[in-house]
Amino acid sequence: MNILLLGPPGAGKGTQGILLAQTLGLPKFATGDLLRDAVKNGTPLGLKAKAVMESGALVQDDIILGVVREELAKPGAAQGVIFDGVVRTIPQAEGVEALLVEQHRKMDKVLLFDVSDQEILARLEKRRGIEGRADDDPEAVARRLVAYRAQTAPVLAWYEARTGVIRISAVGAVEGIARQVREAVGV
Ligand code: AMP
Repeated sequence: MNILLLGPPGAGKGTQGILLAQTLGLPKFATGDLLRDAVKNGTPLGLKAKAVMESGALVQDDIILGVVREELAKPGAAQGVIFDGVVRTIPQAEGVEALLVEQHRKMDKVLLFDVSDQEILARLEKRRGIEGRADDDPEAVARRLVAYRAQTAPVLAWYEARTGVIRISAVGAVEGIARQVREAVGV
């Protein structure tokens, strides 16, 4: 089963993605995590992505699709993958669909983690204190939310018209949200 987790920064996709991956026994990957590793290790991918990431803008679609292609080619991905925040523009949605079709697969479920802007700002401020991520500073967060509204929110309509989108109310206890996620994927 291939499952896409969508939602604004700080919505809890990462936390819930890990739990769901354990429940389903599937690998999970987040383009944000892979890009951060690449930046840390100074790889060519990291060098290309660093400044854009720090500004809070989105990395180019072709770079993201290259990362997705590599992840889907891994043997562990053959039974399905949890895509955590991997699709953030319509060209990415189209590109990921094409990559899945090449492997005779499709996106089976799309889950939207719904959280208010006010809650996101509070969560990211807290995370900044813990993880010290450069792009959790207030200015970068504001740009990330603008990118989300302008470029990622339209992706919802794209999937609504195809796979459908299941909304998760991503506020409250982790276990309560995890229950909604399990119900959404039917486990
Ligand atoms: P995240 O950890 O998911 O908040 O991602 C951190 C940053 O990585 C984002 O602000 C973007 O600059 C970049 N990024 C991660 N995933 C994508 C994607 N699918 N498309 C474009 N940029 C991305």
